[in-house]
Amino acid sequence: MTTIDHIAIRPGDPDYDAARTTIAGTAEPAVVLRPTDVDEVSAALEYVRAADLELAVRSGGHSPLGYSNSDGGAVIDLSRMDSVEVLSDGKVRIGAGATWGPAAAALAEHGLAITSGDTRSVGVGGLTQAGGMGWMVRKHGLTIDSVLAVELVTASGEVVRADAETHPDLFWAVRGGGGNFGIVTAFEIQAQPVTTLHFGTMAFALDDVPQLLKSWAATMDSAPEELSTALSLMPGFGDFPAGAMLWVAYCGDDLSVLEPLRSLGNLVSDTVSEKRYADVLEEAPHPPEGIRPEIGNTLLEQLSGDCIEAIAAAYSSGTAGRVVFLRNLGGAMGRVAPDATAFAHRDAQVLVVSAKFLPVDAPAEVRAAARSEWQTIRRHGIGSYAGFLASDTPEDLAALYPPDTLARLVEVKRAWDPDNVFRRNFNIRP
Ligand SMILES: Cc1cc2nc3c(=O)[nH]c(=O)nc-3n(C[C@H](O)[C@H](O)[C@H](O)COP(=O)(O)OP(=O)(O)OC[C@H]3O[C@@H](n4cnc5c(N)ncnc54)[C@H](O)[C@@H]3O)c2cc1C
Repeated sequence: MTTIDHIAIRPGDPDYDAARTTIAGTAEPAVVLRPTDVDEVSAALEYVRAADLELAVRSGGHSPLGYSNSDGGAVIDLSRMDSVEVLSDGKVRIGAGATWGPAAAALAEHGLAITSGDTRSVGVGGLTQAGGMGWMVRKHGLTIDSVLAVELVTASGEVVRADAETHPDLFWAVRGGGGNFGIVTAFEIQAQPVTTLHFGTMAFALDDVPQLLKSWAATMDSAPEELSTALSLMPGFGDFPAGAMLWVAYCGDDLSVLEPLRSLGNLVSDTVSEKRYADVLEEAPHPPEGIRPEIGNTLLEQLSGDCIEAIAAAYSSGTAGRVVFLRNLGGAMGRVAPDATAFAHRDAQVLVVSAKFLPVDAPAEVRAAARSEWQTIRRHGIGSYAGFLASDTPEDLAALYPPDTLARLVEVKRAWDPDNVFRRNFNIRP
């Protein structure tokens, strides 16, 4: 067996505390392996399987459920495999361990950008396999819609390249099927010629939440694909008053399309201005101290009147604060056939993510009430997005994949990972 000692971090090592920490907190892995190339990934996997350790694979470490960490098991952490290489014709080879902030900055040097997420520290490996929704989703689709090929190490340790011609089943499955099929080491992605966009926030008074939601939905129905927006209803916290914030990202030239947004409600402030794409990505927010949010997400085919009522009621109910974040979708994302990738919810026009901010020690019945409140919104949805899913009940898992998609994913799983080595994820059981 190839030695892995030079890439291993174990309890007691100086880097161990950092290596066992992700956005979800700390765990006690027996070993964290940090390979620098694909052969070391194979060797790491061989070691983990021979030692019969539970395996967690990590790119950016942003799984809210702590899937990229393990108590007592092994983590294969790809953070050293973070190169961003521009090939010909705007194609980019990007290491799965890269994060989107540095990747965007590297691509900006070439006048390029990849449609991806909004947060700097989120990993390329995890986000891309979930789908990838960001400020250019309406213009350039999900991140997976720009993926041309993936390099991955399979459960048997083999290094394969999957694309539309070679291993098309695997290529289909990794685009939306999470980390179920192997350790992705690199993606080849088509980037777009993007340098700047108009980006910022418009804040609105909270005098009529249902009307604000209605006007936003109607305006976005006829908006050009270059315009992406997200409406956030935020509770008051400490010195921060409650408010409605519209995030605006426009990658076109005709600035008059922004005007209808300014009259969605009683406009309080407007920070929209031209910015480099790489500068609009933000640091990850941290939940306030002592708070453990109850988070859910659902995809809507339309923001109906009933759903608006449910959102407005849930937002204003109870003493604890609820955030509701609505991102409009459609455009290029919706033009991809539902069976072209493992992300099938192509008819979704709106993603709703909502979190009830509860104290860490909130009683079980208070948490259950928050979840029931969320169900009043969720029942209007057609499914969920894995990227923002922070719970993994059977109901959550069923919402990720329609039955036909799930059946196909199971087939691919059986072919490539029959022993379910890759199971710290939204697991497709072989
Ligand atoms: C603050 C924050 C902001 C976010 N913003 C966005 C956004 O704007 N748009 C969006 O679409 N999503 C967003 N997400 C969701 C994000 O895409 C998912 O949480 C994603 O899984 C994180 O990827 P990661 O590599 O950072 O996470 P990790 O925790 O490293 O991995 C997440 C999952 O993917 C698996 N995995 C990771 N890398 C690999 C690999 N190379 N091979 C095989 N399996 C792998 C892991 O085992 C784990 O199951 C956000 C999440 C957070 C916490």
